[in-house]
Amino acid sequence: MGWLIVDGHEDIATELLETGRDFALPAPPGHALSLPDLRRGGLAAILATIFSPDGYWKDETGTANAERQIALYDALLERHREHLFRLESAGDLSLCKAGGPIGIVHLMEGADPIRHPQELARWVERGVRFVGIAWNTPNRYAGGTRDDTGLTDAGRRLLEEMTARGVVPDLSHLNAQAFDDVLAHHPGLVVASHSNAAALRPHRRNLTDAQIRAIGARGGLVGMVLYAPFLGEGEVTFDTVFRHVDHVMGLVGPDHVGLGSDLDGGFRTDKAPRGLTTVADLARLGDLFHQRGYADDVVARILGGNWMRVLRRVLPA
Ligand SMILES: [Zn+2]
Repeated sequence: MGWLIVDGHEDIATELLETGRDFALPAPPGHALSLPDLRRGGLAAILATIFSPDGYWKDETGTANAERQIALYDALLERHREHLFRLESAGDLSLCKAGGPIGIVHLMEGADPIRHPQELARWVERGVRFVGIAWNTPNRYAGGTRDDTGLTDAGRRLLEEMTARGVVPDLSHLNAQAFDDVLAHHPGLVVASHSNAAALRPHRRNLTDAQIRAIGARGGLVGMVLYAPFLGEGEVTFDTVFRHVDHVMGLVGPDHVGLGSDLDGGFRTDKAPRGLTTVADLARLGDLFHQRGYADDVVARILGGNWMRVLRRVLPA
């Protein structure tokens, strides 16, 4: 079936800058993302990341690296104007259909490129609508996954800017303290763009049941990440993904779960569920959910409808 698919986390710029490959050609073996594969898969919208945590790119500042990634997206959108476009308003979402042009918004994964909270505005102008305040390692705003530090004073100021400008916090890489700090200081919508259920796979990158409920209570959603070590032990299949989805559904119902594949986000397809060769296979997840007994409208929400609802709230009218 031609599901409308929204993927809440794709590190397209990082992948293309690291490999130097042409996005217009099908992804080489082991890689999942390319324009032909996205189109074959019927992707309707993507949260395309700007990924530059401190220390990851040792020879550049996070800001210069983020500029390079935005420039790459600009070039890609210009070159493939008929297939890719930036989502600038909620009205633009009506163009997003399976098989239609693919809408792009940006998610900044790790806020290091924002040197001062006041700089957030210029990133919003360039399409950033979601910000993960820290990545795995601590930065000036918060401790990441591998640290217990919550939001710093600068982190609270950044969060105030985000709240004021309608930029949604992405909680995926935050530790428990920082997660709670964001909820305490930000009254609105939050998401976890790429995290699974810790109840099924205990891992610091996954979310506890209480965290999943907190995200649902804010009207947000949890994007299922397709990196095998976050899904289960040993061999991981589409059925493993279904079990995580079903767990989240059991906690918060069908409106707060989606996809956040993280494909090509530092891992190859040998670390994705068995049988996934490219992003085009995301549609097969929908077919599996259907076989497992989910109604069509529920599958449609999980594959794309829930992200569409979030984007409708996030984008300017
Ligand atoms: Zn990540």
